[in-house]
Amino acid sequence: MSEQAEELEEEQPDPGPSPEERREWRATALRLVRQYPDPALRNPASPVAQVDEEVQRLAARMVDVMERSHGVGLAAPQLGVLRRIFVYRVGDEDTPRVLINPKLSQLSEETAVNTEGCLSLLGGELQVPVERHLRVHVSATDALGEDFELEAEGFEARVIQHEIDHLDGVLIVDRAQDEQRREALRELRLRAG
Ligand code: ZN
Repeated sequence: MSEQAEELEEEQPDPGPSPEERREWRATALRLVRQYPDPALRNPASPVAQVDEEVQRLAARMVDVMERSHGVGLAAPQLGVLRRIFVYRVGDEDTPRVLINPKLSQLSEETAVNTEGCLSLLGGELQVPVERHLRVHVSATDALGEDFELEAEGFEARVIQHEIDHLDGVLIVDRAQDEQRREALRELRLRAG
């Protein structure tokens, strides 16, 4: 999932990378993210049999691409890897989470509609209203191979549902209402590969 890049300049002795550098990083990272209509975005991903070094390297690369592209979440198929792994980070200060073979349960009956972007749809520029469950329970394996469970609500629950959709080849345009889907697909036809 994506968010609009913030371009605040901070007045500090060491301001870190300049806005230009950040833009450059973002453009470089986005080049690694498969863009609609890449078939990798449409195929269901396979479960990870074992969390080995290769999987750990992939997860680390996904976190790196997510952060550089200012995304809040990234699923392995977005890098062309059809395995059931995604990473997310909802707050700038949060430690990124790695979820391997995630399974949703206890989806709340209560839902909410809000706009979402996706790094794979015009690099996050296309925004589509999507209905999601307000609260979810998810079980998964982390990058160390440990099983864990978590409860999420609101924006975090939305990000998790968005990323798990990627593992099933589902995109936000598929979840939009008819009218908005037609509009989004029209824009994609005009602007995407
Ligand atoms: Zn996405």
